[in-house]
Amino acid sequence: MIYQLSRPTNESDDSAYACVTGGGEEMQRIPKCQCGKYMVPTGKVLPLQITLYGSLVKDIVWCDGHEFVVNRRLARILEENRITGYIEYCVNVAEWLEGGRSIFFRRLLTRGVLRYLHVVGNGGKARTHTPGIEVESNCNVCGSTEYSPTSSSIVLSRSEYDGSDVFFCEEYGYLFVSERVKILFEENNIGNYDITEVELRQ
Ligand SMILES: [Zn+2]
Repeated sequence: MIYQLSRPTNESDDSAYACVTGGGEEMQRIPKCQCGKYMVPTGKVLPLQITLYGSLVKDIVWCDGHEFVVNRRLARILEENRITGYIEYCVNVAEWLEGGRSIFFRRLLTRGVLRYLHVVGNGGKARTHTPGIEVESNCNVCGSTEYSPTSSSIVLSRSEYDGSDVFFCEEYGYLFVSERVKILFEENNIGNYDITEVELRQ
């Protein structure tokens, strides 16, 4: 069984969340492409730089992008249980704002506390199996295609999924986890996420 992991809909107001201001997977534009959207990874990953908002750092710090940031406790649990599908990097908290005010001493306390889990696990394409996904734009120079998000639950192809415990699907930054991860989260009382079962279809 696999699951989609997402930001909790009932997330409390004081839960810390992050805006990524630098680092992470380095991307570059394809030269000559006119759509301006198409970026390819250079193969280099850098420590993530973030601005943190909210007073309470929980097990998962949800980001404005697709980056997966967790606290040291959760990173250790995943590592000790040999969870696959990610490479761990550090996080630099460039600024921590609470109610619009910067808290410098807090920023010092976060040094080394947060970890960036760069997801490399691959679940293949969602569009071939999930109903309701449509092509929104298609660049005829680079071939980059954008898809609509889906209102139905996601269906992934069993043959395209590489078997990692933590993974993304090709078109989206949706985060998926295996049954092993779900059980580890429950056993260790990990909080601050919603989990939805995802169908794997042949
Ligand atoms: Zn293009």
